[in-house]
Amino acid sequence: MFADSHCHLNYKGVFEQQGEVLARARARGVGAMLNISTRESEWDAVVATAEREPDVWASIGIHPHEADQHPHVDLAKLVDRASHPRVVGIGESGLDYYYDHSDRARQQASFRTHIAACRETGLPLIVHTRDAEDDTLAILREEMEQGAYKGVIHCFTASDAFADAAMALGFYISISGIVTFKNARDLQETAARLPIERLLIETDAPFLAPVPNRGKPGEPAFVADTAVFLAKLRDEPIDELAARTADNFFTLFDKARQ
Ligand SMILES: [Zn+2]
Ligand SMILES: [Zn+2]
Repeated sequence: MFADSHCHLNYKGVFEQQGEVLARARARGVGAMLNISTRESEWDAVVATAEREPDVWASIGIHPHEADQHPHVDLAKLVDRASHPRVVGIGESGLDYYYDHSDRARQQASFRTHIAACRETGLPLIVHTRDAEDDTLAILREEMEQGAYKGVIHCFTASDAFADAAMALGFYISISGIVTFKNARDLQETAARLPIERLLIETDAPFLAPVPNRGKPGEPAFVADTAVFLAKLRDEPIDELAARTADNFFTLFDKARQ
């Protein structure tokens, strides 16, 4: 059984054919999917999908791209919405200095609010970070000193050193279809040596379709292709990689077990 730790089932292009997308995922052995929020306007729909589908759970959060548009989403609001029984994570939140779609100070403030929500609810943080390793790490560390919380670095593309620092803070590392791309040498090297206890897999669908599906919109079924690639890269049996990463998923997102 595979667990897709990060997908967007309510994005345009996926939502219109959600039934078929879910059927194809199940046919390939995907038994758990985490449907991720990026803005307040999609929270209801993201949670509704998780209410309807027994193998889909939801997160509540504001993507760093959207931080400027959501100054009113505060700690109380996140905590309130996260109390829904199908909401098992907080995010995706973090820092994206590659696109800089939102003011950096706003991204940082929003990130800290999400971490506070994790502390208050006990739910894991889903971290998005791009071209912002130093600030991401500084905030994760500072906030950890204020009180423990747990989480995952999603769609990991950062440096080897960042992976080590995040794992030292207790974080899981989630590998997306990017690892199957030809030019992803550094990521492949990191993914090959990550301890299996810290490893998750994801599609970030509808983005980042892995080889051999490039050019198609991504969907959770493709997490199986990423897993096969990773198993080869790491010289592990595919069944073992699938089972361990699924286990890790339910260990981190433990509210999904209830
Ligand atoms: Zn992301
Ligand atoms: Zn995402």
